[in-house]
Amino acid sequence: MPHEHDDNNAHTLLPSEPALRVRALETILTRKGLVSAETLTEIIDIYAHKIGPHIGAKIVARAWTDPDFKQALLTNAETVLGEMGLAGRQGEHVQVVENTADIHNMVVCTLCSCYPWPLLGIPPSWYKSDAYRKRAVREPRTVLAEFGMMPHPSQSVRVWDSTAEMRYLVLPMMPAAAAGCDAEALAQWVTRDSMIGTGSPKAPQI
Ligand code: FE
Repeated sequence: MPHEHDDNNAHTLLPSEPALRVRALETILTRKGLVSAETLTEIIDIYAHKIGPHIGAKIVARAWTDPDFKQALLTNAETVLGEMGLAGRQGEHVQVVENTADIHNMVVCTLCSCYPWPLLGIPPSWYKSDAYRKRAVREPRTVLAEFGMMPHPSQSVRVWDSTAEMRYLVLPMMPAAAAGCDAEALAQWVTRDSMIGTGSPKAPQI
């Protein structure tokens, strides 16, 4: 699968002191009038407080309870998510891949950190690490085991390599123990990692 990026491998070029570099960039951009401080604050607020895995969790929970929605999501996620206002900012092209009794899906970006931001927020640091990016493809079951995730030996593990053109969201299997819950309650079971494929849905902590 081709893996072309529009970000020039930005993550692998990040220096070891990213906070300092970010501050320097912010200063230059605001001084040159390219970005206003208010806009930056707004963007940071959106990703810190408004966009996160709870959005993807609602999508998954709805798919678990609404077969027509699930079918549409698996067939044409872009249209479905676009109609829900969840496109844009690294979410234009998204494919939803379903875990089944036969297949366990996991997502990686081998070149940098492509990720469905509008559905999951900012990627976790391990997702961007060299180790995960290399090993997820070479030894997916070993990596999954380190996350405490053990797909059944009869399940094949399918690794999806994200690109700037296509991001992936895993639709995990609904736990049997969650049967009978409504969509709102089910969303509480859906973890971020279960939508990357490195974890399972979990009973919510009360
Ligand atoms: Fe990437």
